Amino acid sequence: MIIIEPHIHMLSRTTDDYTAMYNAGIRCVVEPSFWQGSNRRHAGTFFDYFRLSLEFEHTRAERYGIDHWSCISVNPKEAEDLALARETLAGMAPYLDHPRCVAVGEIGFNLITPNEEEVFQAQLEMAKAHALPVLIHTPHDTPRVSKKKGTERILDILREFAYDPGLIIVDHNTEDTMPLTRKTDYWAGLTVYPYSKLNPRRVVDILRQWGLERVLVNSSADWGVSDPCSLAKTATFMGEQGFTQPQIQQIMHDNPLAFYSQTPKFNPRLDLPYIDPATYQR
Ligand SMILES: [Zn+2]
Repeated sequence: MIIIEPHIHMLSRTTDDYTAMYNAGIRCVVEPSFWQGSNRRHAGTFFDYFRLSLEFEHTRAERYGIDHWSCISVNPKEAEDLALARETLAGMAPYLDHPRCVAVGEIGFNLITPNEEEVFQAQLEMAKAHALPVLIHTPHDTPRVSKKKGTERILDILREFAYDPGLIIVDHNTEDTMPLTRKTDYWAGLTVYPYSKLNPRRVVDILRQWGLERVLVNSSADWGVSDPCSLAKTATFMGEQGFTQPQIQQIMHDNPLAFYSQTPKFNPRLDLPYIDPATYQR
């Protein structure tokens, strides 16, 4: 089974992770832009991060037999500093036009504030201007924020935004938000995490209820507790639960390939050799 991981933050992961992912069948990954753990203070810090993702990480991944692609954005968590976000967006076009940038993302809401909304809307327009797919982060449930409310607000904004719904994925759905997302023609993302978010059992139940069309499953692994091989575990669990091999392949390979192939830039190599780390020079 060849797995395409449609949402993972490899800049935060180790070479051991790459080896484990290769051994688990993962041959291609897409890395959305993400919060690094402390807020950036300069537009240049964003630009260097974009370059690192687009130009360094794919050469690192390649040694482990994995083809790496990027999505570029100011993430929702850092949209609150409006002056910095505007300055970053003003210089973001060359990174969106980079041959390895295959979507705008992740964008959306963190605390669902007016500033976040401005930065979200501006980046939707940039996606349209650059004819790119869009990856949308729905907020986490916290004492202050409701994922369901955030998802409703995102869908309201998207309704006003005239763009092919097939180019948009609304990510990190749960049992609560799938009924909202499935009323639309957008893609729906499901994130498998070891503790928070969904586990393979919940993903399987959601897939049984809502079907396999326009669904992407991802690990969203980052610098927190997360599992870069969770897709392989989900594939195994789907098999144990009676999904057929073509169905598992649809979720793990065909759907992510179809979504990102909507930009002609995405042309993944799924047959890269794994190079024994002992044999290559730094
Ligand atoms: Zn993410």
